[in-house]
Amino acid sequence: MNLKPEEISSVIKSQISSYKTQLEVSEVGTVIQVGDGIARVHGLQKAMAGELLEFPNDIFGMVLNLEEDNIGVVLLGSDQFIKEGDVVKSSGRVVEVPVGDAMVGRVVNALGQPIDGKGPITTDKFRPVERTAHGVMSRKSVDTPLQTGQKAIDAMVPIGRGQRELIIGDRQTGKSSIAIDTIINQKGSGVKCIYVAIGQKASTVANIVATLEKFGAMEYTTIVASTASELAPLQYLSPYSGVTIGEEWMEAGQDVLIIYDDLSKHAVAYRTMALLLRRPPGREAYPGDVFYLHSRLLERAARLSEDLGAGSITALPIIETQAGDISAYIATNVISITDGQIFTSTDLFNSGVRPAVNPGLSVSRVGGAAQIKAMKQIAGPIRVELAQYRALASFAQFGSDLDTATQNALIQGERIVEILKQGIYKPMSVAEQVVVLYAATRKYLMDIPAHAVRQFEAELLEFVNTRYSDILKDIIKPAGITKELDDKIKTAIEQCKASFRPE
Ligand code: ATP
Ligand code: MG
Repeated sequence: MNLKPEEISSVIKSQISSYKTQLEVSEVGTVIQVGDGIARVHGLQKAMAGELLEFPNDIFGMVLNLEEDNIGVVLLGSDQFIKEGDVVKSSGRVVEVPVGDAMVGRVVNALGQPIDGKGPITTDKFRPVERTAHGVMSRKSVDTPLQTGQKAIDAMVPIGRGQRELIIGDRQTGKSSIAIDTIINQKGSGVKCIYVAIGQKASTVANIVATLEKFGAMEYTTIVASTASELAPLQYLSPYSGVTIGEEWMEAGQDVLIIYDDLSKHAVAYRTMALLLRRPPGREAYPGDVFYLHSRLLERAARLSEDLGAGSITALPIIETQAGDISAYIATNVISITDGQIFTSTDLFNSGVRPAVNPGLSVSRVGGAAQIKAMKQIAGPIRVELAQYRALASFAQFGSDLDTATQNALIQGERIVEILKQGIYKPMSVAEQVVVLYAATRKYLMDIPAHAVRQFEAELLEFVNTRYSDILKDIIKPAGITKELDDKIKTAIEQCKASFRPE
């Protein structure tokens, strides 16, 4: 073989001169494999985790796996028209959603695109969906209540603005209803609401929108929906999109309430993606970073310090359990991240105790600091009396002659269970709650038949609203229930009782 040195050197020279351009070309890659909503792309050495890539036919993908010789991309659209060898362009951007007041009253998908048929969203503000949460120094402790309007919650497991309170329970135990009622109760309070529907049926979401519209709650609410029929990556993105929309308001000094309904389905969507990307499965086949999936989401709920405008995001994530098992993997993860949980149980729900809040398993680790004074003064005995009642009720089934103290505890417990019942879409102001709970904890209901307790409640509220509306105004004052106010409430209850006829 006859090698020509000048030929070799010219080849080397041309390779050196084209070396740089080759790196620039790497802004474009090629699809080497596609299927199940996942694409593997070769040649995009500069891709960032979370970056948006542009595929042919206006399909976008998000970079999730960065491997040595290729990257794993989840597609945010159909993979039908993508084939091997297709050119993929990097965009240099991460996934962003529109934010700002234009989002109020809208129903959007996980990418912030409107799906309510009310035309385009006009805003020039966008934010990347992934962001580091505020650190400790930019936060302040929870000190303002977020009223849910539901007696059982505001009295026993109070929630403060900036808190993360989990709603956990089996299917069909009223979890979503608690969240929706809380949104309805924010009317007039200035709190903006975001409801993130993850993996629910489109018809369920449509019903929720209709309900919120009916109660005038869409005026301050945004819905981010990724339904069960949508791709796993969109379901995965939707809660981050929701909280991103909320952060814009929080950082402008406003209060925001966000519901994630539900994070069990969110974890399942993430598991689907991770398995398709061939990440190693761990416990219950979830990938190893499933804790981080929810911790980085829920950490973004915060109460900002005065310097930063004192805005807040209160998060109410929902988790569905199987047969009341709160020690499952995702449930324990989220319990450990949140500041407490509202546990709804099937037994209570089916026996007519609705909302089915289980007082023994429900806690709020910070909200007590945010209760108004009057509520704190009144609500104290409720938990104890309920616990006593539950313990005694199972025991009393066996014996007939009970001493008076036990009998009284049973009578009182039964009345408290009754008074904590509340229908859906009937949120109650905190002042009204205090009046009603006052009647219960100060034992004014003992001589009213249990079945008539709710009738009495309705009549008492009517009576106080028409005859003693100043009581309701005084209750919410910082002084709480003063001696004078105490006498007034007593008089009102006694007068109402005097004319009460149980049906
Ligand atoms: P899923 O597991 O399907 O998401 P869920 O736990 O979110 O269910 P909801 O959908 O809120 O439960 O409620 C289930 C049913 O119970 C609904 O039909 C709702 O109207 C009813 N319900 C919920 N709360 C109450 C209540 N306080 N009073 C009367 N009915 C209620
Ligand atoms: Mg639900």
